[in-house]
Amino acid sequence: MIIYCRLVPDRIRSRSPWIEQLATNEAPRPLDADVTTDVVVVGAGIAGVATAFFVLRNTANRVLLIERDRVGRGATGHNAGQLTTYFERPLSDLVDSCGFDQAIAAQRAVDGAWDLLDVMVAESGAQARIDRFVGHMGMFSLNHLQIHLRNSLLRERGGLRPPSCVVSEDADFLDEIPTEYSALYSVVPQSRVRELLGTTDDRYCAVLSDDGGCTNGALLIEQVLRFLQSRYQDRFRFVDHTPVRRIELDAKTAVIHAGEHRVTTSRVVMCTNGFVDHVVKNLVGSDIGAQMHHRVSGTVGYMAGFVEDAVRDAGAISYIRNAIIGQATPYVYVTRRPFGWPQGAATLTCIGGPEISLDDHATYTPDSDFPVEVIKEIDNDIRPIVDSTRAKGLAYDYAWHGLMAYTESRVRLIGFEPRNPLLMYNLGCNGVGFMPSIYGGYRIARLLCGESLEPSIFDPP
Ligand SMILES: Cc1cc2nc3c(=O)[nH]c(=O)nc-3n(C[C@H](O)[C@H](O)[C@H](O)COP(=O)(O)OP(=O)(O)OC[C@H]3O[C@@H](n4cnc5c(N)ncnc54)[C@H](O)[C@@H]3O)c2cc1C
Repeated sequence: MIIYCRLVPDRIRSRSPWIEQLATNEAPRPLDADVTTDVVVVGAGIAGVATAFFVLRNTANRVLLIERDRVGRGATGHNAGQLTTYFERPLSDLVDSCGFDQAIAAQRAVDGAWDLLDVMVAESGAQARIDRFVGHMGMFSLNHLQIHLRNSLLRERGGLRPPSCVVSEDADFLDEIPTEYSALYSVVPQSRVRELLGTTDDRYCAVLSDDGGCTNGALLIEQVLRFLQSRYQDRFRFVDHTPVRRIELDAKTAVIHAGEHRVTTSRVVMCTNGFVDHVVKNLVGSDIGAQMHHRVSGTVGYMAGFVEDAVRDAGAISYIRNAIIGQATPYVYVTRRPFGWPQGAATLTCIGGPEISLDDHATYTPDSDFPVEVIKEIDNDIRPIVDSTRAKGLAYDYAWHGLMAYTESRVRLIGFEPRNPLLMYNLGCNGVGFMPSIYGGYRIARLLCGESLEPSIFDPP
């Protein structure tokens, strides 16, 4: 019998471990007067803070960062905190639809976000813990292997380092793997697969391994924001508790209705994750508002976490659950990291995977309770894959949810709005959005410097 009633109360309030580590004593600082500036960045998640960071660093512009809530309380404070640079769509798929050159250039660009993250951390002096390690992904079918080995081959052809791959000697499709991929994987005992994936689920018989990491992204950006406020006192301002409700664009000027005031600016960069509850009025061209509304669709992602006294190595592992990549069942994932706990050093393990379309969750708000049936799904269906050493039915210390916005292309939108280039975007979570958001901030700064960049899969359509 599962005894959730004892261990999981009837009502579970959403509680993110990342938000708990943020400062609680910051006074609200809403916009208190009409202002004029050069660049307005809307949204203080990783995308907005990274955009402000690189625009301030690489241009002489004045920047106003506007947040309707507080820094880091959006998806950035409700994610798994995994640092990784793969796209949610297979690279081979991007090559097929966008061409080899653009797909490889985009992958190279996002891989380069590791260096950009280093720059942000080094220059800001941010102290948030960042763990780096080799992350793993578990596969169980020939389809998984063929798609990922094709990605590896394309990476190699494009001059990018392919991830390493092992296949169990027990895999029943071992003899069917096309010979063109032979140099891209090695055959190992099933015990090695179990060890890499930390699972006793022997359906998983192949592993892809690549650079990974994890951090509390909300804490990191809170610290980077503090640095920006002190380093650029003369040309940077952050306001919170200030919703942007309306944006009016003419040929040279954007007027933003934010809170109770108006901001006049030359550029506005939307770093809102993709959800639209503001109006965009294009006074010099075709309608933008409706177009933007149809560019993203939303899902709610759910996670649960538990703390153990023992300190365990940091790591991140995901496990495919569809037999065919692209089918409906979301993959599941676990991140683990050393974690401060009132009693001292400990380990936080976070388990995620369940997603519900916003279309099926009309009453969702960021403050919604965590559904009891989802904690049961995590404990019954996902825990046995990702941590079979944990007994069934134990209470979780944290359970939280956040919004993921998927663009039509499942690629982040970074760049000028084609209908009026005063408006720019760095948005679209697409499941894995932390590192792409940092790259997006850097790309926006380059565009604002007047650089003419090659056409890219990130260009808004
Ligand atoms: C459950 C879950 C797990 C995830 N796991 C990972 C992971 O392991 N690795 C990874 O890379 N990615 C992950 N992601 C995705 C990642 O968290 C996001 O892509 C990233 O944090 C998005 O950052 P952002 O700045 O674009 O959005 P957000 O962090 O959501 O920030 C957007 C901000 O804009 C503000 N805003 C919106 N509209 C307005 C307005 N009109 N006026 C003023 N402010 C406004 C919001 O209040 C918010 O603060 C996960 C997401 C979820 C939900």
